[in-house]
Amino acid sequence: MENLRLVILGRQGSGKGTQCMRLSESYGTIHISTGDILRAAVETQTELGKKAKLIMDAGDLVPDEIINGIVAERIEMKDVLENGFILDGYPRTSAQAQALEGELLSKGLSLDLAINLEVPVDEVTQRMLDRSRADDTEEAITRRLEIYENETAPLLKWFEERNNLVVVDGLGTEDKVFSRLQNVVNGVINGK
Ligand code: AMP
Repeated sequence: MENLRLVILGRQGSGKGTQCMRLSESYGTIHISTGDILRAAVETQTELGKKAKLIMDAGDLVPDEIINGIVAERIEMKDVLENGFILDGYPRTSAQAQALEGELLSKGLSLDLAINLEVPVDEVTQRMLDRSRADDTEEAITRRLEIYENETAPLLKWFEERNNLVVVDGLGTEDKVFSRLQNVVNGVINGK
């Protein structure tokens, strides 16, 4: 089994959650979704959950210090150190990207690849309206897409500058997209 360390970027509604789960099953890599961690905290009404709920409902970002702490703790757990990770929904800001780089460096680790699952704005808007999740109000969707363009899209350049970015077309059937992702990940494994 390969110890892969991947980041998946993509607009909300790009299908990255589903694809990350499939990649995790196929490669034995641990799927870390900051959105899932936060939703679980909201569900169980922890202190974090109480703080995060309003922010998430509005489609805003939970503060970097909080998210960075959650991820730093998770990536040093035994299962992740042994099996690697697929980060889904993190990093979302340049402060988060820097924190991740610092955390990995301090452990003598590095990222194998950031994959941008590219789906155009019109398509993701429709998909999010169709899935009708509790936090998917039209205002929140618009707000999240705006934040993505302003805060997260600049990270594409950041990873590109580190020769660490691949763009994968996220249009088409789930299987088709998955096989594109497998090709990319297999390439990483073969290059190790
Ligand atoms: P997601 O499931 O990735 O779309 O995340 C759902 C919501 O959780 C987002 O709209 C944010 O409010 C919050 N969230 C998830 N990941 C992050 C992150 N890396 N930084 C800040 N907020 C986040």
